Amino acid sequence: MPAPDLNIPRFYTGFSAPVTALDCGRMCAPHNPHGIPFCCDICHAVPAVYHQEWEYLRLHTDLWHPWRGDECAEEPVNPSILAEDTPEHMRLLACKGPAHCQREYRSSSCRQFPFFPYITANDRFIGMTYHWDFEPTCWVISNLGAVTADFRREFFATYDALFNTWLEEYESYAWLSEDMRAAFGSLHRRIPILHRNGSDYLLSPATERMERVPASQFRRFGPYRLSSC
Ligand code: SF4
Ligand code: SF4
Repeated sequence: MPAPDLNIPRFYTGFSAPVTALDCGRMCAPHNPHGIPFCCDICHAVPAVYHQEWEYLRLHTDLWHPWRGDECAEEPVNPSILAEDTPEHMRLLACKGPAHCQREYRSSSCRQFPFFPYITANDRFIGMTYHWDFEPTCWVISNLGAVTADFRREFFATYDALFNTWLEEYESYAWLSEDMRAAFGSLHRRIPILHRNGSDYLLSPATERMERVPASQFRRFGPYRLSSC
């Protein structure tokens, strides 16, 4: 199915709330040897954008360029390796880095990070969960109770609108949710969910039964184990 016409300025305006009230980059950057937020460090995260997004960004800003694979000097990557894992409706970019960030031209992946829509095995978009690879590095993942109501509202409004017209995008998150159930199932862990009803839950990956638990009581990781928000 072809991508629907995305109105990128409207998409960006409707999805601009900060994830937390404080600048979470200040909480994680001190733990990154590169001294910058992990999600803005090309050695840790390569942003993926919709093709229409790239068309918009390249006309309006010089902040971004197509990812080449050599941007992380310590660990150059053959671009074909990561590109293979990138959905066909997206492409990989690299930005000039946080010193040059332009908030209005942040990509969709900057805006959603560290979250993605969680789709149940029986096909319901019930909430948001996170990219679990970043548990040891992202401060937000260890402080899910700090996620603002505004961010949650904009996240659900954005993805409800997108999924209404774009099955391919919905399916890519359904597969990612399935991967997360498999990963957490093998670890005997439950999946943290910030539910669209405003409450927080731990979800069993095998049965998808949910227990209501305040996000402030969710597990913390890495250097954030002992801190609180
Ligand atoms: S979202 Fe996570 S990785 Fe990105 S700046 Fe905030 S705490 Fe750091
Ligand atoms: S555009 Fe800004 S928020 Fe996005 S990765 Fe670059 S520095 Fe980070």
